Amino acid sequence: MAHPAGIGAVTPDGWAYQRSPMIVYWELTNACGLACRHCRATAMPDAAPGELTTAEAIALLDDITGFGDPAAGEALPHLVMTGGDPLRRPDLAELIAEAQARGIGVSLAPAVTPLLSREKLFWMKDIGIQAISLSLDGSDSGAHDGVRMVPGTFDATLEALDIAAEAGLPVQVNTLVTAATAADLPAIHDLLSAHTLQQWSLFFLISIGRGTELTELSPGEAERVLIWAQQVGRSSAFRVKTTEAMHYRRLGAAALLRAGKSKEDVEAHPMSRAFGIRDGNGIVFVSNTGDVTPSGFLPLTVGNVKDSSLVSLYRDDPVLRSLRDPDQFKGRCGACEYHDWCGGSRARAYAWTGDPLESDPLCPYVPKGSL
Ligand code: SF4
Repeated sequence: MAHPAGIGAVTPDGWAYQRSPMIVYWELTNACGLACRHCRATAMPDAAPGELTTAEAIALLDDITGFGDPAAGEALPHLVMTGGDPLRRPDLAELIAEAQARGIGVSLAPAVTPLLSREKLFWMKDIGIQAISLSLDGSDSGAHDGVRMVPGTFDATLEALDIAAEAGLPVQVNTLVTAATAADLPAIHDLLSAHTLQQWSLFFLISIGRGTELTELSPGEAERVLIWAQQVGRSSAFRVKTTEAMHYRRLGAAALLRAGKSKEDVEAHPMSRAFGIRDGNGIVFVSNTGDVTPSGFLPLTVGNVKDSSLVSLYRDDPVLRSLRDPDQFKGRCGACEYHDWCGGSRARAYAWTGDPLESDPLCPYVPKGSL
């Protein structure tokens, strides 16, 4: 492995991605009351056969404690319980309590349905949920509900956002970026600026699941959106980040380098904490049936937690190890001087070419060979 201690392998605060993800995304169920047009999970009204039982889920939590030893200063990964709708899991409260009892911090990604009541949001705060994410894909009900496919979801999302703020529950808002939604981003930003949130994540579509029915931006259009996001992020009351558009980090690093900062200054900058995180490097995904993939958007199953240790799979699986080694990347991402910090979307490379080590086709950058 060519990067035993470089950025992307060990974060400035000492997190070694070779040994442990920073975040485990766990799809508790694919049951959901919504039917979103881009749904990665192809969520259904009812749970799928083979969903992890409570006992299997608790065994997974036991396994996750093997990633680190908090008593020895080794933090455990953060657990994001997602779906489908995690609120559709009858044993949700038990699983949250079992995770927290093991020292694992938990965030939730609930769907906005009648299950996400005022009482439920205050309950999340009371039991120590660290943050929630909500999806907002349009600046008005026509745009948002057209993606979520359930009328009234736009108003309910803004109401949930305000109740979460009242409860003191940190929120990340996720917005899908496609050829159809990109022009609405400035209006969504203005709308969000009138509310309280900690983070806005622009999720650049990966064409998997139901998302194959939608259209990605062209590389040039994506670059313009990222430059715009960088500009508005400088004055926003909330942090602006991206999901599956890792080359946003290239823009951030390049701006610092242009301003005369050294490579070491860039690596010490607070934004570099996100450097290197990408599918299988710093994150890993467990499906509702226990399948382990590098992320929720890269459907390459490397094993199943019903018969394998997540810790062993993450550390030792050859696919996951290759995804953590930028020197194995091909094409422009392989040659790119930013690949330790960025690395491109391995999920999009796979969706477009069938090879997760290929270049990210959304990035228009032509590598220069050195910083
Ligand atoms: S070429 Fe690849 S590694 Fe370089 S900035 Fe673009 S996506 Fe990132």
